[in-house]
Amino acid sequence: MGLSFYSVKMRASEQGKHISGAERLVLEREVDVCVEQMLGRGRNHSKGKADLLNIKMEKIEENEILYLDTLPVSTVEVKDFRDGLKEVRNCLLELGIVNVEGILGRLPETYAMRGAMLLDVDTLKRLEPDRERGVRATYMDGVRTGEAVFTKGKHHFQEAVVLAAKVANAPNIIGEICISDDPDYVAGYVASKVFGYRRITKVKEAGSELGGRIFLYRGREEDVAETVGFLEHQAVLVRNAPELFSRNHSEGKFGFLNEELKRLREDFLFRSMKTMQSAQSSSVLCDGRRVLLLASNHYLDLARRKDVKESAERALDLYGTGSGGSRLTTGNTVLHEKLESRIAEFKGEESALLFNSGYVANLAAISALMGKGDVIFSDELNHASIIDGCRLSGAEIVIYRHNDMRDLEQKLAKCPFRRGLVVSDAVFSMDGDILNLPEFAQLADRHQALSMVDEAHSTGVIGRTGRGIVEHYHGVCRPDILMGTLSKAIGSEGGFVCGSRALTEFLRHKARGFVFSTSLSPAVAAASIQALEALEENPQLVLRLRENVLFFCGCLREGGILADSKSAVIPIMIGDEKKAIEISEELFSEGYFIPAIRYPTVKRGSARLRAALMSEHSKKDLREAAEAILRVCGKYGIV
Ligand SMILES: *Cc1c(COP(=O)(O)O)cnc(C)c1O
Repeated sequence: MGLSFYSVKMRASEQGKHISGAERLVLEREVDVCVEQMLGRGRNHSKGKADLLNIKMEKIEENEILYLDTLPVSTVEVKDFRDGLKEVRNCLLELGIVNVEGILGRLPETYAMRGAMLLDVDTLKRLEPDRERGVRATYMDGVRTGEAVFTKGKHHFQEAVVLAAKVANAPNIIGEICISDDPDYVAGYVASKVFGYRRITKVKEAGSELGGRIFLYRGREEDVAETVGFLEHQAVLVRNAPELFSRNHSEGKFGFLNEELKRLREDFLFRSMKTMQSAQSSSVLCDGRRVLLLASNHYLDLARRKDVKESAERALDLYGTGSGGSRLTTGNTVLHEKLESRIAEFKGEESALLFNSGYVANLAAISALMGKGDVIFSDELNHASIIDGCRLSGAEIVIYRHNDMRDLEQKLAKCPFRRGLVVSDAVFSMDGDILNLPEFAQLADRHQALSMVDEAHSTGVIGRTGRGIVEHYHGVCRPDILMGTLSKAIGSEGGFVCGSRALTEFLRHKARGFVFSTSLSPAVAAASIQALEALEENPQLVLRLRENVLFFCGCLREGGILADSKSAVIPIMIGDEKKAIEISEELFSEGYFIPAIRYPTVKRGSARLRAALMSEHSKKDLREAAEAILRVCGKYGIV
C-alpha cells in the first residue's frame, strides 16, 4: 500500500484583497502541524489582518505523485535592474527564442494577473484558457528528508525553486520568467531545463509592486490543455529543493561535492532520474506521461506475469518480507536452495550460488578467485561490475581489445601467470554484440587460465530457448564459470555464479559478498523460480523477442540508421553527449523512452541511444518508434 499524502492549501484575504497564500504536500501525520502553521501564517501577515481564511485539504495517493529533481540553482549578481533585464534577455537567447523583445514587452500585461501568462514564444500568442486568472502551477512541494519535517515560516526561495522545477518539467514549456510583485523583493529568476534556476539579483526598481510571471510555451496549440492540466493538477514532489537542508552544505568541507556536480552539468554528464509510476512493461506511466518503453532489461515481461506474482505473494505470506540473516547463519530457506538448483539445471551446470545482485556476484566471485600475483585478462568493454571485481582482487589487470581473440591470445602469451582468469560479457551491455565464446574458452584452456562469462544480457535472450551463450553456440563450448543476474530477462532480483560444485563450495566460503550480506528476500527467490519455470514453458517468448529485434533493426536500416543486433540491445550511435541527451529528451516528449548512454558508461564521445526491446512490443509500436527515431535523429543531422 502506498502512503497517503494530502494537499493542504491556504488563502487569506482582507475585504476581498489577497494577503497571503500557501500550499504544501504532506504526509497524513504531518497534516495537523501543517494546518496549524498555515493558520498562523495567514492570520499574522504584515500585509493585513485576514477577515477570510480558507484551508483546503485533499487526499492524494502516492502513486499519483510525480517526483522531479530540483533544477540546479545559480545566481547572477547585477549592478542594477537594467543589467538584470539584460541578463533575462541573454537567458531567452540561450533558449533559442528569436523575438526576445516581443516577449519582454508582454510583461506589463502580467502585472494585474494572479496566475501566469502562457505565451507561445514563436507567435507571441497568449494561450491561457482564462486570461484574467492566468495559469497557476499548484499541487507541489519539496521532498522533506530525515528529521527536517517542517521548517517554520515562509520560504520564498524554496517555494520558487519548487515551482520552477514543476514548470520547467511541464510538457511544451521551455522556460519561465518570474518577477516578484513584492515591493521589497527585487530579485527575479529565469528557469529552464537547459540552464536551471538562474536567480538574478535585481530585475526591478526597489519599492515597485510590478511583478509577473510568464510560462514560455513552444508546441502545438492542441496541446495547451495537456500543459495546463499538468501545471494545475499533476501533484509533484521535488527532490533536493534547497533550504530544506538544516545545514548549509554548499561550503567548506562540502565544497568539493558542489564543484564536481557543477562540472558534471557543464559537461552534460549530470544525470537525472525518470520516475516510474506503473509496472515495468512495454508501455509505462513515467514522469506523468504514458510512453513506449524501449529501455527495460525486462526483455520477456516476466515481472508482470500472474503466476510469477502469485508465487512471490505465497512466499511473502509464508516467510514475511526479509530473510533475517546471511545464508551462512539464518537467511537460508528452502526457496534459496531450490532457486540455486533451478539455475544450475537451466544453465546445464553442476551447481549454482546466489548473490544479492549481479554486481555483487562479479565483485565477490572475481575478488575471491584472484589475488595479488595473479593476472586477469578483461575485455575493454566489460561491465563495470567486472572491472570493479578485478580491481578489488588486487590481481594484475590486462585489458584486451574488444572481442579481439588475436589480441587476447598475444596478451596471454606475453603475460605469464601462476593463476589467471579471462573474463568477458556474453552479450555486451552497451553494444549488444556477442562474445566469440568458442575461441575465448579454447584460449583460456590452452593457457591454463580460468574462463568466466557474464550472462546478464544473454540469459532469456540468446540461444533457441533463452538459456544463454552456451546454447547460442549449440553446446559445443562452455566457459569454466557462468555468472548472471535474475534482474534482467528473469524480471526479479539477484545474481548467480554457476559451474562445478568445487567452484560454488569455494565461493560459499571465500566470497565476502556472499558471506557478509543478508540473503535475498524469500519472496524474490520465489519470483525467480517461477519466472524460470515460465521461461522454460514458453520458449516462444524468446523467439518473439528475436523477431522484434530483427523487425526494429530493419525499420531503422530502411531509414538509414545502421542498426544490427543479435541480442535485445540495439545501440544507435550519436557521439556527442549533449546531442544524445537532446535527442533522447525530444523522443521522450513524443512518447518514446529511449535513454541516452554517456560517459562513464561508455567512452567519452561515443554517446548513444540504447534501445532495449521486449517480447511484448507490437510491430506497430516498433515501426512508429523507429519512425520517430529517424525523424528526430534526422533533425540533429545523425541520419
Ligand atoms: C546489469 C549487469 C550486471 C549487474 O547485475 P545487477 O543484478 O543489476 O546488479 C552485471 N553485469 C552486466 C553485464 C550487466 O549488464
